[in-house]
Amino acid sequence: MGEIIVVGSGFSGSILARKIAEELDRSVTVVEKRSHIGGNMYDYYDENGILIQKYGPHFLNTNKYFIIEFLEKYAKLYPHQTKLLSFVDNKYVRLPFNFETVQQLVGPKKAEGLLAKMREEYASRDRVPIMELLNSKNEDVREYGKLLFDKCYKTYVAKQWGKTPEEVDSSVMDRVPMAMNYDERYLNKDFQYLPKEGFTKLFENMLNHPNIKVELNTDALDYIAFDDEKKIITYDGKDVDLLVFTGAIDELFQLKYGRLPYRSLDIRYTYEKKKSILPSEIVSYPQAKGYTRSTEYKKLTYGIDQDINISMIATEYPLEYNPENEVGNTPYYPTVTEENFKLYEKYKKEAEEYGNIILCGRLAEYRYYNMDICIEHALEKFETVKEILT
Ligand SMILES: Cc1cc2nc3c(=O)[nH]c(=O)nc-3n(C[C@H](O)[C@H](O)[C@H](O)COP(=O)(O)OP(=O)(O)OC[C@H]3O[C@@H](n4cnc5c(N)ncnc54)[C@H](O)[C@@H]3O)c2cc1C
Repeated sequence: MGEIIVVGSGFSGSILARKIAEELDRSVTVVEKRSHIGGNMYDYYDENGILIQKYGPHFLNTNKYFIIEFLEKYAKLYPHQTKLLSFVDNKYVRLPFNFETVQQLVGPKKAEGLLAKMREEYASRDRVPIMELLNSKNEDVREYGKLLFDKCYKTYVAKQWGKTPEEVDSSVMDRVPMAMNYDERYLNKDFQYLPKEGFTKLFENMLNHPNIKVELNTDALDYIAFDDEKKIITYDGKDVDLLVFTGAIDELFQLKYGRLPYRSLDIRYTYEKKKSILPSEIVSYPQAKGYTRSTEYKKLTYGIDQDINISMIATEYPLEYNPENEVGNTPYYPTVTEENFKLYEKYKKEAEEYGNIILCGRLAEYRYYNMDICIEHALEKFETVKEILT
């Protein structure tokens, strides 16, 4: 039997490696170009004992309990409801924007009538996207939608994506809908957790299998070649039975059709000798210059003791991804537009010509997958893996 290579050790790569090792009893080499496993979920303790997520804050949110059950094989999960505030007009208001935010932004007197109209128009709706508020049949609701749009969405999107709301895919605007009640949870998903000892530990357990070998600090692109006669991909000069690729698809093909754009983040850290810095674990700053949000990692509840007299906030400054630059060289968010997706389709078509490669994950499929979707998708992809290998 030939080798099986998995490129990337985020959820997509690690899940497939584990399933191949365990259920097909095959040896797998996981090749990771970073110096650590876990992809963008990687976390570590700083010298003060604060558990920091290196690539921005990540929370597990899902309506599908089988995802939780799957992850519980590798880590004890700790309940954590993500709660945010937004700093608007010099005050902290609830995010997701909810009925409390209406009162905070227009005052309780004006809110009375507005809330009644929202309850009537969106009866039985839990969350409503901003674009629907802007197109409400009620003038007052439309006016409130415009206030939120101008003060928060427009400005946040401009920084996050470097684009106007008209230029971004509608899914981007729909990502933070307004709660039609007083629900304080950022997302209205049923099951919300963090791994008790952090994400890295979960990945260590997932990759801890006698059939799995992990090679860090190794760029797979240095070893991948295309055999155009046999229409297979080779690795380090050898035929491989399967190559699971979870890196950026445009880089796999040396950008031959052009670069797929991503937004990146410059994350800047500030320490203060205080028990607490922010009024919430994450604060979003739609009106601030240059930065979008800050996370105070100490406030995330993992069930570990972080009761120390120092704290840190990580503030995100979005910028365009460029692998050549010192900052902004990590591809964080695929810039989903019709044009970019057409470009992605060209790469995908090219990959489909080779019989022994599977593309999986956020970078390889150029999708904004959240972790729950990414996990479910990797589990589904395992069925294709089995078809190729058995
Ligand atoms: C700032 C931010 C916050 C987020 N917050 C949440 C959240 O709260 N909840 C949620 O559900 N989702 C969140 N997500 C989404 C989540 O990060 C993704 O679902 C997840 O990262 C996808 O995992 P993946 O394995 O597909 O990709 P990645 O985690 O990106 O893993 C890909 C791996 O492949 C490696 N690689 C790439 N190219 C090569 C190569 N040539 N050779 C070797 N290795 C290579 C990379 O180094 C990386 O380790 C967030 C994303 C971002 C950017």
